[in-house]
Amino acid sequence: MNVAVKPSNLIKGASGDWEVVIGLEVHAQVTSHSKLFSGASTEFGGKPDAHVSLVDAAMPGMLPVINEECVRQAVRTGLGLNAQVNLRSVFDRKNYFYPDSPQGYQISQYKSPIVGEGVVEVELEGGHTVTIGIERLHLEQDAGKLLHDQSPTMSYVDLNRCGVALMEIVSKPDIRSSEQAKAYVTKLRSILRYLGTCDGDMEKGSLRADVNVSVRRPGGPLGTRCEIKNMNSISFMGQAIEYEARRQIEILEDGGSIDQETRLYDPNKGETRSMRSKEEAHDYRYFPDPDLLPLEFSEAFVADLKAGLPELPDQKKARFIAEFGLSPYDAGVLVAERERAEFYETVLARLADKARDGKLAANWVINELFGRLNKEGRDITGSPVSAAQLAAIVDLIGQRTISGKIAKDLFEIVWQEGGDPHALVEARGMKQVTDLGAIEKVVDDIIAANPDKVAQAKAKPAAIQWFVGQVMKSSGGKANPQAVNDLLKSKLGI
Ligand code: ADP
Ligand code: MG
Repeated sequence: MNVAVKPSNLIKGASGDWEVVIGLEVHAQVTSHSKLFSGASTEFGGKPDAHVSLVDAAMPGMLPVINEECVRQAVRTGLGLNAQVNLRSVFDRKNYFYPDSPQGYQISQYKSPIVGEGVVEVELEGGHTVTIGIERLHLEQDAGKLLHDQSPTMSYVDLNRCGVALMEIVSKPDIRSSEQAKAYVTKLRSILRYLGTCDGDMEKGSLRADVNVSVRRPGGPLGTRCEIKNMNSISFMGQAIEYEARRQIEILEDGGSIDQETRLYDPNKGETRSMRSKEEAHDYRYFPDPDLLPLEFSEAFVADLKAGLPELPDQKKARFIAEFGLSPYDAGVLVAERERAEFYETVLARLADKARDGKLAANWVINELFGRLNKEGRDITGSPVSAAQLAAIVDLIGQRTISGKIAKDLFEIVWQEGGDPHALVEARGMKQVTDLGAIEKVVDDIIAANPDKVAQAKAKPAAIQWFVGQVMKSSGGKANPQAVNDLLKSKLGI
């Protein structure tokens, strides 16, 4: 896939510009109650070995049985990534020994993965978009976890994660900057969370990425890559890419060459270091797992899953733009996280007139609510202002019962104290005054006391704003600005 190269993506070296090329292998834990080939629970945080079946412990003679739900989740993910779903795929054994993996091999998919090529649209700062190609998605088993801090002389192993289903989502080397890599993982995570196929919790290890980085002269042939293993933080991933690209450029500019190797990122030192070189790479001796039949689907099975997909972020964004006239930026902010989009949609559902106030509601959700939540480091699920309360505030503005300015005070009260916005407006006398009779006396007094300003306004109608300001002030912000404007114009004869 070709991606437009913006000059700003290039890195300046001593001998000219370099382009960084990145491809990601993302491991996403499949959302499912039980493991890929056993009925053991996938629950996080149980006591060591609390969720281990005989299959997971690789007892002799145990046979794997495919978990249909994991298969459905992988197909749904493929569809969500606009990817080719392969009607026939094969499980292979990837042979290697490591103490966290009692089988002595990992069941994975090699030559015939369940999902083939796809694309992800990634939005960047400034409204720029790049399309990142997906190479494949395959299903595989997770390994257990070694515990080195339980005994001074021994290592222990916890097999709870052993056999949990992972989707490995491999991108093409289409990514051209750390910014793009971060935006790609963020978008991928969002799509998975909308689909409900992976919870995307990077802290718990549900989503982690191996990051392949190389550099080349702009537009030149691909350079040799290094793979940074197991990144489980988007911001560390960005730092690791920046460091790694510069490290490679320095070596190349000094006349050296890059060794293809696996590296680890140390966030404390802010650098990557070698873990193993290509020479030490495993020969996995892949072969089809004789205990498992190939997976075969009918077209109807895939079509059914496709019909059941939820609305995904790109579609939702397009709909918000078309239906409510939101800017692409605002629509993007609303759909980026599933919970935030759901909140906005609950507000919409409760508005008295969503065609009229849908856009106003978006402004309130983004600027007042998200702004405030971000400031206090809270997320939407813990919002003190509910969707119903926010919808009521927007209704009150839309119906011109309160001004936007008063609405901010009302929002503050609801945030601090809770309560029904309609009742609060009544009880605290916050209603906007549209009754011209009540305003008229104030307007007359101000005009009488300020003949010089009257002359100014007559000469230059924009000066009427001074009067509007005065009237608003003396009404405690409750006068309807439009009514004040109209009244002033007729009194001043302009
Ligand atoms: P492996 O399975 O050995 O790691 P793959 O060929 O499947 O190798 O590629 C793994 C990842 O490396 C993919 O995401 C791919 O886009 C990326 N990649 C391949 N070549 C390069 C390169 N020259 N620079 C950066 N990334 C690359
Ligand atoms: Mg790899």
